[in-house]
Amino acid sequence: MTARPRCDDAPFDATRLANAATAALRAYDPGHDLPALRQRFGAVIAELGSNENALGPSPRAIEAMRAALADVFRYPDPRGAALKAALARHWGIGVDRIVLGNGSHELLMMLTQCFADPAHSVVFSQYGFAVYPIATAAAGAQPICVPALPRTHATAPLGHDLDAMAAAVRADTRLVYLANPNNPTGTWFGDGALTRFLENVPRDVLVVVDEAYNEFVDTPGLSTALRLVDDHPNLIVARTFSKAYALAGARAGYLVADASVVAVLERLRESFNLNSLALAGAEAALADRDHLDHVRRTNASERAWLVAELAQRGYACLPSQTNFVLVDLGRDAAQLERRLFERGVIVRPMGGYGLPHTLRISIGRREENERLLAALDASS
Ligand code: PMP
Repeated sequence: MTARPRCDDAPFDATRLANAATAALRAYDPGHDLPALRQRFGAVIAELGSNENALGPSPRAIEAMRAALADVFRYPDPRGAALKAALARHWGIGVDRIVLGNGSHELLMMLTQCFADPAHSVVFSQYGFAVYPIATAAAGAQPICVPALPRTHATAPLGHDLDAMAAAVRADTRLVYLANPNNPTGTWFGDGALTRFLENVPRDVLVVVDEAYNEFVDTPGLSTALRLVDDHPNLIVARTFSKAYALAGARAGYLVADASVVAVLERLRESFNLNSLALAGAEAALADRDHLDHVRRTNASERAWLVAELAQRGYACLPSQTNFVLVDLGRDAAQLERRLFERGVIVRPMGGYGLPHTLRISIGRREENERLLAALDASS
């Protein structure tokens, strides 16, 4: 082996050593340093920036995680067998149709790593969830970002244009990411639109329907893409325990797909990707239907109340079937976000999504929502 020249004079910088796909990426912007803010201000901040579920998880989930602590010196079950069996029963499918993820984020990333390379393209919507372009870039694949529906659209302003997305699929397209409902817009498309989309897309294109917020849906005409997985082997449905089940900090998600898709993903999955507390908590949370119903009902009524209160103050929200609303100010939102922050109310500015005139506000507990309104009143 010939010796490589040493260049000890130059400062070490690994940036130039990054592979091409990673060199093209920017690190995720996590927003405000919340742990530091909590330490400084304690409970006085209203955290409405991350679409968490402020009602908290099922008490049974907390209990199960406490019990799991006793065995924390052991590795978790690498198969996640108990959680997978519970999910399989819940959805009436085989356990060979499920992959567990350290949050659904991990699964969304794994899909491009397993199925796309630089010769392939990946289709997603403008204003779709931010992870889709990152997953595409991480695999070095070519992004096809399809313009969103216009702001004036009757049911899904700034939402996915499924006809345009189907038309954007090319011979080299491997994956399409759809979020239903979508983050950050909160918009959705109905069952019929998805069925049509699947009929319009070749079977070799994997269609990922990200249903992170599906449990919050209460509008007629939108159920779940899970009802279609038996008829469409190219359909992949991603779900999470972070939102309605309120286990964002535990990190548990899953996807349902054809067994052959699962088998490919399992080659790359880190064997202990779900820790033992997350496995126990998710299983117990899934079993507590009463808590989920309580979350659904509370979220729906709080969202309706908040949207009405905001409207009274002249703030227009996009239609939402999630646990957040996108407020369209019609002018740059950065200043208002700053003023709310100074009053201890954290919301998410959407400039990074190309929506600088909007703020995304999670539905909090009533007292947090009231703090938001009071801060808005004081800021206007
Ligand atoms: N999909 C969507 C649409 C999301 O908004 C989020 C989280 N913000 C995720 C997936 C990932 O969630 P998690 O990794 O916590 O499951």
